[in-house]
Amino acid sequence: MVKVPTKLVTWDEIVEWSMGLAEVIKSSGFRPDVVVAVSRGGYIPARLVCDFMLVDNLISIQSQHWTEAAKVAEKALIKYPYKVDLSGQRALLVDDIVDTGDTLILARDFILSEWKPKELKIAALQWISPVAKIKPDFYYIEVKDWMWFQYPWTRHEDTVQFIKRALSEEGKSKKVWSFEEIRNVFIEYYGIDVGEVYFKLALKSLVDLGFLKEEGGKYFIKV
Ligand code: ADP
Repeated sequence: MVKVPTKLVTWDEIVEWSMGLAEVIKSSGFRPDVVVAVSRGGYIPARLVCDFMLVDNLISIQSQHWTEAAKVAEKALIKYPYKVDLSGQRALLVDDIVDTGDTLILARDFILSEWKPKELKIAALQWISPVAKIKPDFYYIEVKDWMWFQYPWTRHEDTVQFIKRALSEEGKSKKVWSFEEIRNVFIEYYGIDVGEVYFKLALKSLVDLGFLKEEGGKYFIKV
């Protein structure tokens, strides 16, 4: 039984979705002078939207509260509250997904009060409509049932967190694991397969982090 509904998103899908999002924006008639990527998830979509809309100006803002993949958030904050003068400019704030909407609301309010653009619109590849506190001006996919989208730019980070979470739970009754057993429990929990390269890299990181110990091809849960 899958415990966390997860979809593995490919690079090709990201290009397709970003191109689709750019088309939605274009057909509205909105032409941004500057794109603001919401760091970190909005970086790649924002860069692609700039490409598909032929926009030269790209800056970013780091609004964050998700510390671990697919975990309930604490509090959102603007990490580096620097000042940029956007007066007279039409700005487009771009993120990967609007989940709760908390980080986007914070970024939007900060930009409106501190950077003062003439106009500010919000675009996201995906919008989880039943849980989001805001609806972006532009989106490409409306998600009706919450799930974790495993984007290609967080594949390693998510794999590390996912293994850690599954093993922390399963590790209460089982301390010694083989590579195949960990891989199977991962697929059982999340319903996706990130492939051997990412899987091995994540296990290596978990050994480096001191969460696992490897000996003779077996993994021991240390904490
Ligand atoms: P917002 O909805 O304003 O983006 P959230 O706090 O809900 O704010 O999400 C912040 C970031 O966390 C997202 O931009 C995305 O990078 C990541 N994230 C949140 N929910 C998901 C999800 N369901 N799948 C993948 N990534 C997510």
